[in-house]
Amino acid sequence: MAKKNYHYSNVSRGLTGGMICAHCNKSIEDGDYRYYENPKAYITHHKSCCLGDPAWEEMDLDRAEKQRKWDGFVVDIKALMQKHGRGTASDLIMDIESIFDIDYCKY
Ligand SMILES: [Zn+2]
Repeated sequence: MAKKNYHYSNVSRGLTGGMICAHCNKSIEDGDYRYYENPKAYITHHKSCCLGDPAWEEMDLDRAEKQRKWDGFVVDIKALMQKHGRGTASDLIMDIESIFDIDYCKY
């Protein structure tokens, strides 16, 4: 059988097709799921029904790394707020575009 072209998503980001798991036949109502498209429909699976798919481990590691970076960022921001005072730090953070010459509007 040809390798299926799976896509990975989470219910919080949107629904794909009928959202019935092709493995357990139950509705996919929350959490991660994967899907592929055949000529007739989207075929979906609960994450828990296809844990052997190595893509999950890769995504879990990626999420953990993003969370680790975020946690470090929050620690730094809290330290800035403690050092400069909450209001001043907030004002400076609002000005961060000009500090780093970032212009989001040009994209
Ligand atoms: Zn299932």
